Amino acid sequence: MSRIGQNYSRVKQNNKLLILQTLLRNNMMSRQQIANKTKLTPATITNIVGELIEEGLLIEIGDLPDQKPRAGRKSVAVDFNPNTIYVIGLHIRTDRIELAIVNLKGQVIADNTVKFPENTDIQGFLDLVSKLIKEIIDQNPTINIMAIGIGSVGLINYKDGIILNIHHLGWENLDISTFISEKFKLPVYVDNNARAMTLAERMYGNNKKLENFLFVFIGHGIGAGLVINDDVFRGGVTGAGELGHMSLVPNGEPCWCGNKGCLERYASESFILKELKLSSINEFIQLINNKDPNAFHLLETVGKRISIVLTSFINMFHVDKIIVGGNLVQKNNELIQELEKINQYSFLARKEEVQIEVSILGEYIGVVGAASLALYNHVFQ
Ligand SMILES: [Zn+2]
Repeated sequence: MSRIGQNYSRVKQNNKLLILQTLLRNNMMSRQQIANKTKLTPATITNIVGELIEEGLLIEIGDLPDQKPRAGRKSVAVDFNPNTIYVIGLHIRTDRIELAIVNLKGQVIADNTVKFPENTDIQGFLDLVSKLIKEIIDQNPTINIMAIGIGSVGLINYKDGIILNIHHLGWENLDISTFISEKFKLPVYVDNNARAMTLAERMYGNNKKLENFLFVFIGHGIGAGLVINDDVFRGGVTGAGELGHMSLVPNGEPCWCGNKGCLERYASESFILKELKLSSINEFIQLINNKDPNAFHLLETVGKRISIVLTSFINMFHVDKIIVGGNLVQKNNELIQELEKINQYSFLARKEEVQIEVSILGEYIGVVGAASLALYNHVFQ
Protein backbone atom coordinates (compact mmCIF):
# COMPACT_ATOMS: atom_id res chain seq x y z
CA MET A 1 0.00 0.00 0.00
CA SER A 2 1.30 3.50 -0.84
CA ARG A 3 2.03 5.98 1.91
CA ILE A 4 -1.04 7.99 0.87
CA GLY A 5 -3.08 4.79 1.10
CA GLN A 6 -1.68 4.04 4.58
CA ASN A 7 -2.44 7.55 5.78
CA TYR A 8 -5.94 7.34 4.37
CA SER A 9 -6.63 4.06 6.14
CA ARG A 10 -5.22 5.40 9.43
CA VAL A 11 -7.50 8.44 9.18
CA LYS A 12 -10.40 6.13 8.48
CA GLN A 13 -9.49 3.91 11.43
CA ASN A 14 -9.25 6.98 13.66
CA ASN A 15 -12.64 8.18 12.43
CA LYS A 16 -14.13 4.74 13.16
CA LEU A 17 -12.80 4.85 16.71
CA LEU A 18 -14.07 8.41 17.12
CA ILE A 19 -17.57 7.31 16.07
CA LEU A 20 -17.49 4.26 18.38
CA GLN A 21 -16.22 6.36 21.30
CA THR A 22 -18.91 8.99 20.65
CA LEU A 23 -21.63 6.35 20.66
CA LEU A 24 -20.21 4.80 23.82
CA ARG A 25 -20.43 8.16 25.53
CA ASN A 26 -23.90 9.13 24.26
CA ASN A 27 -25.82 5.87 23.75
CA MET A 28 -28.02 5.63 20.66
CA MET A 29 -27.66 8.49 18.18
CA SER A 30 -28.73 9.43 14.67
CA ARG A 31 -26.10 9.84 11.98
CA GLN A 32 -26.76 13.59 12.08
CA GLN A 33 -26.15 13.71 15.84
CA ILE A 34 -22.91 11.77 15.41
CA ALA A 35 -21.84 14.26 12.70
CA ASN A 36 -22.63 17.19 14.99
CA LYS A 37 -20.63 15.71 17.89
CA THR A 38 -17.63 14.47 15.92
CA LYS A 39 -17.47 17.35 13.36
CA LEU A 40 -17.01 14.73 10.64
CA THR A 41 -18.91 15.28 7.39
CA PRO A 42 -22.31 13.59 6.99
CA ALA A 43 -20.91 11.69 3.99
CA THR A 44 -18.03 10.29 6.11
CA ILE A 45 -20.47 9.31 8.87
CA THR A 46 -22.82 7.56 6.42
CA ASN A 47 -19.90 5.70 4.91
CA ILE A 48 -18.28 4.56 8.18
CA VAL A 49 -21.54 3.81 10.01
CA GLY A 50 -22.50 1.64 7.01
CA GLU A 51 -19.25 -0.28 7.38
CA LEU A 52 -19.70 -0.68 11.14
CA ILE A 53 -23.21 -2.05 10.56
CA GLU A 54 -21.82 -4.46 7.96
CA GLU A 55 -19.13 -5.56 10.44
CA GLY A 56 -21.88 -6.23 12.97
CA LEU A 57 -20.72 -3.71 15.60
CA LEU A 58 -23.66 -1.33 15.12
CA ILE A 59 -27.34 -1.79 14.33
CA GLU A 60 -30.15 0.54 13.33
CA ILE A 61 -32.73 0.61 16.10
CA GLY A 62 -35.53 2.67 14.57
CA ASP A 63 -36.49 6.31 14.94
CA LEU A 64 -35.05 8.34 17.78
CA PRO A 65 -37.64 9.19 20.41
CA ASP A 66 -38.71 12.88 20.47
CA GLN A 67 -37.03 13.45 17.15
CA LYS A 68 -39.08 14.90 14.30
CA PRO A 69 -38.17 13.78 10.78
CA ARG A 70 -36.38 16.61 9.00
CA ALA A 71 -37.09 17.47 5.36
CA GLY A 72 -38.93 14.22 4.94
CA ARG A 73 -35.88 12.18 6.12
CA LYS A 74 -36.31 9.96 9.10
CA SER A 75 -33.87 10.25 11.94
CA VAL A 76 -32.90 6.63 12.42
CA ALA A 77 -30.85 5.88 15.51
CA VAL A 78 -27.86 3.58 15.54
CA ASP A 79 -26.54 1.82 18.61
CA PHE A 80 -24.14 -0.98 19.54
CA ASN A 81 -25.22 -4.40 18.42
CA PRO A 82 -25.62 -6.41 21.64
CA ASN A 83 -25.31 -9.72 19.77
CA THR A 84 -21.91 -9.79 18.08
CA ILE A 85 -19.08 -8.94 20.46
CA TYR A 86 -18.80 -10.92 23.69
CA VAL A 87 -15.98 -11.07 26.21
CA ILE A 88 -15.40 -12.78 29.55
CA GLY A 89 -14.88 -10.67 32.65
CA LEU A 90 -13.09 -12.46 35.52
CA HIS A 91 -13.02 -10.78 38.94
CA ILE A 92 -10.51 -12.17 41.45
CA ARG A 93 -11.56 -11.11 44.96
CA THR A 94 -10.06 -12.01 48.29
CA ASP A 95 -12.87 -14.41 49.17
CA ARG A 96 -14.30 -15.44 45.79
CA ILE A 97 -13.86 -15.64 42.04
CA GLU A 98 -16.62 -14.15 39.88
CA LEU A 99 -16.88 -14.42 36.11
CA ALA A 100 -19.38 -13.47 33.43
CA ILE A 101 -19.94 -13.27 29.69
CA VAL A 102 -20.59 -9.60 28.88
CA ASN A 103 -21.67 -8.04 25.57
CA LEU A 104 -20.65 -4.78 23.88
CA LYS A 105 -23.34 -2.87 25.79
CA GLY A 106 -21.89 -3.98 29.12
CA GLN A 107 -24.76 -6.40 29.77
CA VAL A 108 -24.18 -9.66 31.64
CA ILE A 109 -25.32 -12.68 29.58
CA ALA A 110 -24.21 -15.49 31.92
CA ASP A 111 -22.32 -15.52 35.21
CA ASN A 112 -20.85 -17.75 37.88
CA THR A 113 -19.29 -17.26 41.32
CA VAL A 114 -17.18 -19.68 43.36
CA LYS A 115 -15.47 -19.35 46.73
CA PHE A 116 -11.75 -18.68 46.60
CA PRO A 117 -10.25 -22.12 47.29
CA GLU A 118 -8.51 -22.55 50.61
CA ASN A 119 -4.92 -23.77 50.76
CA THR A 120 -4.41 -23.69 47.02
CA ASP A 121 -1.11 -23.06 45.29
CA ILE A 122 -0.66 -20.91 42.17
CA GLN A 123 -1.03 -23.87 39.80
CA GLY A 124 -4.20 -25.04 41.55
CA PHE A 125 -5.62 -21.51 41.28
CA LEU A 126 -4.75 -21.20 37.57
CA ASP A 127 -6.28 -24.62 36.89
CA LEU A 128 -9.49 -23.59 38.69
CA VAL A 129 -9.72 -20.30 36.75
CA SER A 130 -9.18 -22.20 33.46
CA LYS A 131 -11.88 -24.71 34.42
CA LEU A 132 -14.35 -21.89 35.21
CA ILE A 133 -13.64 -20.12 31.91
CA LYS A 134 -13.98 -23.38 29.95
CA GLU A 135 -17.26 -24.18 31.71
CA ILE A 136 -18.89 -20.83 30.95
CA ILE A 137 -17.75 -21.06 27.31
CA ASP A 138 -19.06 -24.64 27.00
CA GLN A 139 -22.38 -23.70 28.61
CA ASN A 140 -22.90 -20.96 25.98
CA PRO A 141 -21.95 -22.73 22.74
CA THR A 142 -23.54 -20.16 20.39
CA ILE A 143 -21.50 -17.28 21.83
CA ASN A 144 -18.14 -16.44 20.28
CA ILE A 145 -15.79 -14.99 22.93
CA MET A 146 -13.37 -12.37 21.54
CA ALA A 147 -11.21 -11.55 24.58
CA ILE A 148 -10.86 -12.01 28.34
CA GLY A 149 -10.51 -9.22 30.92
CA ILE A 150 -9.24 -9.89 34.45
CA GLY A 151 -9.68 -7.52 37.38
CA SER A 152 -7.77 -8.70 40.43
CA VAL A 153 -7.03 -7.69 43.98
CA GLY A 154 -3.37 -6.98 44.66
CA LEU A 155 -0.61 -5.09 42.95
CA ILE A 156 -0.89 -5.44 39.18
CA ASN A 157 1.40 -4.54 36.30
CA TYR A 158 -1.40 -3.71 33.85
CA LYS A 159 0.95 -3.23 30.90
CA ASP A 160 2.36 -6.76 31.05
CA GLY A 161 -0.74 -8.38 32.57
CA ILE A 162 1.14 -9.70 35.60
CA ILE A 163 -0.18 -9.95 39.15
CA LEU A 164 2.89 -8.70 41.01
CA ASN A 165 1.62 -9.51 44.47
CA ILE A 166 -1.44 -10.93 46.22
CA HIS A 167 -0.36 -10.22 49.76
CA HIS A 168 -2.61 -12.51 51.79
CA LEU A 169 -1.55 -15.51 49.72
CA GLY A 170 2.10 -14.56 49.46
CA TRP A 171 1.93 -14.98 45.66
CA GLU A 172 4.32 -12.97 43.53
CA ASN A 173 4.86 -12.38 39.81
CA LEU A 174 1.92 -14.43 38.60
CA ASP A 175 1.86 -14.13 34.78
CA ILE A 176 -1.85 -14.85 34.50
CA SER A 177 -2.32 -13.19 31.10
CA THR A 178 0.22 -15.44 29.34
CA PHE A 179 -1.22 -18.58 30.99
CA ILE A 180 -4.87 -17.81 30.13
CA SER A 181 -4.05 -16.40 26.70
CA GLU A 182 -2.10 -19.54 25.69
CA LYS A 183 -4.78 -21.81 27.08
CA PHE A 184 -7.72 -20.18 25.27
CA LYS A 185 -5.92 -18.55 22.31
CA LEU A 186 -7.56 -15.23 23.14
CA PRO A 187 -6.20 -11.77 24.03
CA VAL A 188 -6.16 -11.25 27.80
CA TYR A 189 -6.10 -7.88 29.61
CA VAL A 190 -5.37 -7.55 33.34
CA ASP A 191 -5.66 -4.66 35.78
CA ASN A 192 -6.34 -3.97 39.43
CA ASN A 193 -10.03 -4.65 40.12
CA ALA A 194 -10.85 -1.12 41.33
CA ARG A 195 -9.22 0.44 38.26
CA ALA A 196 -11.16 -1.96 36.02
CA MET A 197 -14.39 -0.92 37.78
CA THR A 198 -13.46 2.72 37.18
CA LEU A 199 -13.18 1.98 33.46
CA ALA A 200 -16.61 0.31 33.60
CA GLU A 201 -18.04 3.46 35.22
CA ARG A 202 -16.59 5.51 32.39
CA MET A 203 -17.98 3.15 29.72
CA TYR A 204 -21.30 2.01 31.17
CA GLY A 205 -22.00 3.97 34.37
CA ASN A 206 -24.53 6.68 35.01
CA ASN A 207 -21.88 9.39 34.87
CA LYS A 208 -19.99 8.37 31.77
CA LYS A 209 -20.16 11.88 30.33
CA LEU A 210 -18.25 13.32 33.30
CA GLU A 211 -14.65 14.20 32.50
CA ASN A 212 -13.38 14.12 36.09
CA PHE A 213 -14.52 11.75 38.79
CA LEU A 214 -13.26 9.42 41.49
CA PHE A 215 -14.56 5.88 41.83
CA VAL A 216 -14.22 4.25 45.25
CA PHE A 217 -14.78 0.54 45.92
CA ILE A 218 -15.32 -0.45 49.53
CA GLY A 219 -14.84 -4.19 49.92
CA HIS A 220 -12.43 -6.35 51.87
CA GLY A 221 -10.02 -3.42 51.33
CA ILE A 222 -10.60 0.02 49.84
CA GLY A 223 -9.71 0.56 46.18
CA ALA A 224 -10.20 3.49 43.87
CA GLY A 225 -9.63 4.82 40.39
CA LEU A 226 -9.43 8.32 39.08
CA VAL A 227 -10.75 9.66 35.80
CA ILE A 228 -9.04 12.91 34.82
CA ASN A 229 -9.68 14.73 31.56
CA ASP A 230 -11.88 11.92 30.37
CA ASP A 231 -9.38 9.13 30.84
CA VAL A 232 -8.53 6.65 33.61
CA PHE A 233 -5.42 8.07 35.22
CA ARG A 234 -2.72 5.41 35.33
CA GLY A 235 0.54 6.91 36.54
CA GLY A 236 3.13 4.08 36.54
CA VAL A 237 2.63 0.48 35.41
CA THR A 238 1.06 -0.43 38.74
CA GLY A 239 -1.59 2.25 38.25
CA ALA A 240 -2.71 4.93 40.69
CA GLY A 241 -5.60 5.55 43.04
CA GLU A 242 -4.69 3.58 46.16
CA LEU A 243 -7.05 5.47 48.43
CA GLY A 244 -7.07 2.60 50.92
CA HIS A 245 -3.34 3.03 51.50
CA MET A 246 -3.38 6.73 52.20
CA SER A 247 -2.29 7.32 55.79
CA LEU A 248 -4.99 7.89 58.37
CA VAL A 249 -3.14 7.22 61.64
CA PRO A 250 0.53 8.16 62.05
CA ASN A 251 2.43 5.08 63.26
CA GLY A 252 -0.83 3.16 63.30
CA GLU A 253 -1.46 -0.50 62.58
CA PRO A 254 0.96 -2.10 60.14
CA CYS A 255 -0.50 -2.71 56.69
CA TRP A 256 0.45 -5.38 54.15
CA CYS A 257 1.64 -2.59 51.83
CA GLY A 258 4.56 -1.90 54.17
CA ASN A 259 3.17 1.36 55.57
CA LYS A 260 1.45 1.90 58.91
CA GLY A 261 -1.95 3.39 59.68
CA CYS A 262 -3.47 2.98 56.19
CA LEU A 263 -7.15 3.89 55.78
CA GLU A 264 -8.26 0.36 54.87
CA ARG A 265 -6.93 -0.98 58.16
CA TYR A 266 -9.53 1.29 59.86
CA ALA A 267 -12.48 1.55 57.51
CA SER A 268 -12.98 -1.48 55.22
CA GLU A 269 -15.36 -4.44 55.37
CA SER A 270 -12.61 -6.51 57.01
CA PHE A 271 -12.24 -3.85 59.72
CA ILE A 272 -15.99 -3.90 60.39
CA LEU A 273 -16.12 -7.71 60.59
CA LYS A 274 -13.17 -7.77 62.96
CA GLU A 275 -14.61 -5.04 65.22
CA LEU A 276 -18.06 -6.63 65.59
CA LYS A 277 -16.81 -10.24 65.31
CA LEU A 278 -19.10 -10.96 62.37
CA SER A 279 -18.50 -13.47 59.59
CA SER A 280 -20.14 -11.68 56.66
CA ILE A 281 -20.88 -8.11 55.66
CA ASN A 282 -24.53 -9.08 55.08
CA GLU A 283 -24.82 -9.69 58.84
CA PHE A 284 -23.60 -6.13 59.40
CA ILE A 285 -26.06 -4.73 56.85
CA GLN A 286 -28.81 -6.63 58.64
CA LEU A 287 -27.77 -4.98 61.93
CA ILE A 288 -27.86 -1.56 60.26
CA ASN A 289 -31.31 -2.28 58.83
CA ASN A 290 -32.45 -3.29 62.33
CA LYS A 291 -31.08 0.04 63.67
CA ASP A 292 -28.57 -1.66 65.96
CA PRO A 293 -26.83 1.22 67.83
CA ASN A 294 -23.36 -0.42 67.88
CA ALA A 295 -23.46 -1.12 64.18
CA PHE A 296 -24.65 2.42 63.50
CA HIS A 297 -21.91 3.91 65.59
CA LEU A 298 -19.29 1.85 63.77
CA LEU A 299 -20.68 2.85 60.36
CA GLU A 300 -20.49 6.49 61.40
CA THR A 301 -16.86 6.00 62.48
CA VAL A 302 -15.97 4.27 59.21
CA GLY A 303 -17.71 7.03 57.23
CA LYS A 304 -15.88 9.75 59.13
CA ARG A 305 -12.50 8.06 58.54
CA ILE A 306 -13.09 7.65 54.80
CA SER A 307 -14.30 11.28 54.66
CA ILE A 308 -11.10 12.54 56.29
CA VAL A 309 -8.98 10.90 53.60
CA LEU A 310 -11.41 11.89 50.83
CA THR A 311 -11.22 15.50 51.99
CA SER A 312 -7.45 15.52 51.37
CA PHE A 313 -8.15 13.98 48.02
CA ILE A 314 -10.76 16.60 47.11
CA ASN A 315 -8.45 19.40 48.17
CA MET A 316 -5.90 17.94 45.75
CA PHE A 317 -8.18 16.95 42.82
CA HIS A 318 -11.46 18.79 42.94
CA VAL A 319 -13.46 16.23 40.92
CA ASP A 320 -17.17 16.77 40.16
CA LYS A 321 -18.35 13.54 41.62
CA ILE A 322 -17.39 10.55 43.75
CA ILE A 323 -19.03 7.29 42.73
CA VAL A 324 -19.01 4.53 45.33
CA GLY A 325 -19.41 0.77 44.81
CA GLY A 326 -19.50 -2.28 47.08
CA ASN A 327 -21.99 -4.04 49.33
CA LEU A 328 -21.79 -1.48 52.13
CA VAL A 329 -23.32 1.22 49.94
CA GLN A 330 -25.43 -0.90 47.58
CA LYS A 331 -27.89 -1.93 50.24
CA ASN A 332 -28.18 1.14 52.46
CA ASN A 333 -27.67 4.87 52.20
CA GLU A 334 -26.21 5.57 55.66
CA LEU A 335 -22.57 5.52 54.63
CA ILE A 336 -23.19 7.84 51.65
CA GLN A 337 -24.71 10.38 54.06
CA GLU A 338 -21.54 10.23 56.15
CA LEU A 339 -19.32 10.65 53.10
CA GLU A 340 -21.29 13.71 51.98
CA LYS A 341 -19.72 15.51 54.95
CA ILE A 342 -16.62 16.11 52.82
CA ASN A 343 -18.59 19.09 51.53
CA GLN A 344 -18.23 20.59 55.01
CA TYR A 345 -14.63 19.52 55.57
CA SER A 346 -13.12 20.63 52.24
CA PHE A 347 -13.08 24.38 51.63
CA LEU A 348 -13.06 23.74 47.89
CA ALA A 349 -16.12 21.51 48.15
CA ARG A 350 -17.91 24.07 50.32
CA LYS A 351 -17.81 26.43 47.35
CA GLU A 352 -18.43 23.85 44.63
CA GLU A 353 -20.15 20.84 46.10
CA VAL A 354 -18.91 17.35 45.23
CA GLN A 355 -21.75 14.93 44.63
CA ILE A 356 -21.49 11.43 46.02
CA GLU A 357 -23.53 8.61 44.61
CA VAL A 358 -23.78 4.85 44.46
CA SER A 359 -22.71 3.06 41.26
CA ILE A 360 -25.59 1.80 39.10
CA LEU A 361 -23.50 -1.20 38.07
CA GLY A 362 -24.52 -2.87 41.34
CA GLU A 363 -23.39 -6.37 42.23
CA TYR A 364 -21.99 -6.96 38.71
CA ILE A 365 -19.52 -4.10 38.92
CA GLY A 366 -16.53 -6.46 39.38
CA VAL A 367 -17.23 -8.66 36.35
CA VAL A 368 -18.39 -5.77 34.15
CA GLY A 369 -15.23 -3.93 35.20
CA ALA A 370 -13.04 -6.86 34.16
CA ALA A 371 -15.01 -7.21 30.92
CA SER A 372 -14.61 -3.47 30.23
CA LEU A 373 -10.84 -3.99 30.11
CA ALA A 374 -11.32 -6.51 27.32
CA LEU A 375 -13.99 -4.50 25.48
CA TYR A 376 -12.09 -1.22 25.67
CA ASN A 377 -8.82 -2.67 24.44
CA HIS A 378 -10.40 -4.92 21.84
CA VAL A 379 -12.97 -2.56 20.30
CA PHE A 380 -12.39 1.05 21.33
CA GLN A 381 -8.68 1.57 20.76
ZN1 LIG B 1 -1.42 0.07 53.24
